[in-house]
Amino acid sequence: MSRVSIVRGGDIRARTEEAIRRVGGIGSVVKRGDKVFVKPNLVDGAPFITGEVTQLETIEVLIKESFDAGASEVIVGETPTYRRPTETIEKYRRLAEDTGAKFLELNNYPFVEVEVKNPRFFSTVRLSKPLLESDVFINVPTLKTHAQYGITVAIKNMYGLIPPEDRMFYHYTGRVEEAIIDLCKVKRADLIVVDGTYTTLHLGPRPIEDFRETHRLDLTIAGFDPVAIDAISARILGVEPSTIRYLRWAEEDGLGISDLSSVEVTGISLEEARFGKAIGIAEYVNSRMNDFKIANFGACTGCLQLMMNLVHFLRFSGLSKRSLKPSKIICVVGPKARADEIKGMLDEGCVILLCGYCTAPTFYNGLKGHFVPGCPPSPEELQLKIKEIYGF
Ligand code: SF4
Repeated sequence: MSRVSIVRGGDIRARTEEAIRRVGGIGSVVKRGDKVFVKPNLVDGAPFITGEVTQLETIEVLIKESFDAGASEVIVGETPTYRRPTETIEKYRRLAEDTGAKFLELNNYPFVEVEVKNPRFFSTVRLSKPLLESDVFINVPTLKTHAQYGITVAIKNMYGLIPPEDRMFYHYTGRVEEAIIDLCKVKRADLIVVDGTYTTLHLGPRPIEDFRETHRLDLTIAGFDPVAIDAISARILGVEPSTIRYLRWAEEDGLGISDLSSVEVTGISLEEARFGKAIGIAEYVNSRMNDFKIANFGACTGCLQLMMNLVHFLRFSGLSKRSLKPSKIICVVGPKARADEIKGMLDEGCVILLCGYCTAPTFYNGLKGHFVPGCPPSPEELQLKIKEIYGF
């Protein structure tokens, strides 16, 4: 049985210490002389109040506790996506200097190609050399929903340990979910501490005024099982864990447990921690686009990431700016879609796109529209269908 602690409190240091203590303390993973590698989530070095980056106090506790347990070296490492170090990154540097740790921007150090045993997709992956040379790996993600992958917490935080060009490659080939599972197989975290001071919807780098979905939660979640931690995080945020494809794959591949009835929770209960209002991709798109709406009926991240892809296609192709007939597309996704459920969304002249095998028209669901097969459909097929609808 996996054990996960959930602690709530406004004092980040006290809350982090308590969450670690409840799963056995840092001494259960760090031994005298160990080299400890700590991986925060720093993405583009956004300000702390955006909820995008791991709060400094969480990292401070981990550095201090690791040295107290006898660590010979503590490295705080991240592959940055910022062009120039921001104030947040300077604060990280100063923290490392003040505490005797090292702060490494990992793209200045080598990456090593490692074989993946029983790969989900990639037979080899490249990972940071300083990470692979460490004795103890502590993964310290934030608690965020993600526009394409449902959430970005423990498993997705592995993405910051690979070369920037590999990140681009996985994104462009649509294999991010496969890649993060294979990365977890190569290097498993010895301890995971989720900084849930805030939650936000991660959409990639964007201006500070666009972090409108940031909410303060004052939570820390700690444990050892990345699947259980991600499943609990999803439940807290209001994302159904079974809709996250990579969690299902991670469990099938033996990386952990997503069935929450088999997870022992210590601290506050899951119900007490539950926020449930984190915004997902369908709500985000529907609140910002007039001519394209997503009708989500329990779709998994396979089809949901395609929706984001489609939004980019509509914007960059200029289609969303032209006055076209039909004037509105409703894209239906998910296994629970039924004709009577979407009736209220239909305007005159709108067109229905049925995306993926889950929405295949049958006598039982009564769905009618332009069906794009696949599980999920390929982005190219979806784009072709849109061009066909508009007669391009
Ligand atoms: S069609 Fe496949 S990818 Fe799309 S929601 Fe259904 S199961 Fe997920």
